[in-house]
Amino acid sequence: MKHLRSVHKYFWKYRVRLLLGILFIILSNYFRILTPQVSGYVVDKVEQAIKTKTNTSIAQEQKRESNYDLLVQKFINTIESGTNSFGKNVILCAITLLVLALLGGFFMFLMRQTIIVMSRHIEYDQKNEIFNHYQELDTHFYRVHSTGDLMNRISEDVSRVRMYTGPAIMYLINLAATIGFSLFFMIKENWRLTAFVLSPLPILAITIYYVNTIINKKSERIQALLSDLTTTAQESYSGIRVIKSFVQEKAMLGFFTKNSNEYKKNAVGLAKVEAIYFPSMALLIGLSTLLTIAIGGWYLIHHQYNVSPGTITEFVIYVNMLTFPVSAIGWTASMIQRAAASQKRLNEFLQTEPGIKSNPSAKDQKISGDIIFDNITFTYPHTGITALKHFNLTIHEGEKILLLGRTGSGKSTIAQLLLRFYDPTEGKILIGENDTKQMPLKNLREQVSYVPQDIFLFSDSVADNISFSMPVTPSHEKIKQAASFASVDKEIMGFDKQYDTMIGERGVTLSGGQKQRISIARALIKDPEIVVFDDCLSAVDAKTENEIVTNLYKFLNDKTAIIITHRIFSSFRFNRIVVLEDGMITENGTHEELLERNGYYAELYRLQLTERPS
Ligand code: ADP
Ligand code: MG
Repeated sequence: MKHLRSVHKYFWKYRVRLLLGILFIILSNYFRILTPQVSGYVVDKVEQAIKTKTNTSIAQEQKRESNYDLLVQKFINTIESGTNSFGKNVILCAITLLVLALLGGFFMFLMRQTIIVMSRHIEYDQKNEIFNHYQELDTHFYRVHSTGDLMNRISEDVSRVRMYTGPAIMYLINLAATIGFSLFFMIKENWRLTAFVLSPLPILAITIYYVNTIINKKSERIQALLSDLTTTAQESYSGIRVIKSFVQEKAMLGFFTKNSNEYKKNAVGLAKVEAIYFPSMALLIGLSTLLTIAIGGWYLIHHQYNVSPGTITEFVIYVNMLTFPVSAIGWTASMIQRAAASQKRLNEFLQTEPGIKSNPSAKDQKISGDIIFDNITFTYPHTGITALKHFNLTIHEGEKILLLGRTGSGKSTIAQLLLRFYDPTEGKILIGENDTKQMPLKNLREQVSYVPQDIFLFSDSVADNISFSMPVTPSHEKIKQAASFASVDKEIMGFDKQYDTMIGERGVTLSGGQKQRISIARALIKDPEIVVFDDCLSAVDAKTENEIVTNLYKFLNDKTAIIITHRIFSSFRFNRIVVLEDGMITENGTHEELLERNGYYAELYRLQLTERPS
């Protein structure tokens, strides 16, 4: 329960709604609680009428008047002081009952309108809070948490907490109001009968609580199995070519059938438990009604404790009014338990501090000056792999550097450290005079354009994908210009809807090279001070590569550029080439210098020349 305390701030935020909701609950219950009294009154009147007709003594007349609610009493006084006939009075009572039911229903409608709507607002706020926190967390967090887990938090867990802030709270307050009102009038009327009649209700509440716990456990298991089933199906659809080419249809079917069977077994089990749920509830409720009539009837026959047929009628209605709220205790309790478990998970996550923090006192400024990697050693936190060892490199402002090396030599790590996806284990990175750790994170990332190795495009239009980082949507010309610099404009113009073409599952399927160039355009449109391209021409053919390199050269003119690759672009004149091996620099110099050194670069260069004589 203590975990749920963290959502109480939202109750304070929506306190007006909550208070109104409570008021409506009380009003709704008040009007509903008057109906048994009016009904009881009518029954007594009818009985009296019969007795008068058969000339029996009218001993019990007006004996219970003092026990009615003030409003009911006033109503009774009014109709009795009038000259209306007995029949008219009964009809008046019927109309009153109808009006009371309508009033009760109306306020119940308002109560749902305020409390359930409040819970939706809280749900919205909570989702935003979580999403926002997700975005603040660093790459490391995403490495150790699975996407399914993250998705669950923002959908499943939040909706469970909503069951607490909405229905659970509503039912609890409603329960308190119903019990308060009916107990008050029941005890006032006849405390003995009250005690007998209510005795099965606690059993009802406890039974429902236990059955509900079983149902919840089973549903959770079913949910997990369903999720497995969906994953299997999803993977089979997306991997259908692999399945077919390796002739694994039968095996996949067997796998699916097994999962499906397990799911069916559990679902049937749940259906069985649910099948006894309502009958047992009905039984317990029936027991209360039975007790009311039996014991009330006994008192009536023996003229004990002032019980009249009206009293019994009144009590039967009270009992039926109480059973729903009391049975709600059971599932409200398990609802709250589940909400608490979900909120606990949410709290754990919301309390996770991002490892990469922005210096709060730092001011935004234009980035300029040399980039200095000062004795950087970096070990990936969760795998313990040391990707860079005492790495020293100075890149002068405006220099274009080619960073070359085999897969796993640490090239991408350098890019990620520069953008502060991670902080170095040892050493520091300076741009100009400033340690990147002391710069505002946003300021740094806005001015350094990074095209990652694993490209990601959104299921959105080409234009929106390119202008993704821009605070205001840039003009069409600007988008087109960025695409031209990335040598992808011509191909985009060839699409049906050109820049409005949708990318992704329901749009065009782009080639790897096209995707790479669209993400280059995305990086260029920012007009950054520094660009870092991580192996982003790997899927581009030789001719396009030449074209793009020539275009880039124009664009990069006064900018600092780090181009990471595992092959050489002979047409691009780099100021310097740095060769990395096992997280350490092995070669560093101009094209001519490195050719003369006859190392990895020279070897690769000659190899590429013979491969591609163009
Ligand atoms: P390159 O880009 O040159 O191929 P990387 O910088 O990606 O090399 O990788 C350098 C080393 O760090 C490799 O041994 C790789 O396995 C490891 N590595 C890379 N990324 C991660 C990561 N996110 N978590 C753990 N280890 C990583
Ligand atoms: Mg890499």
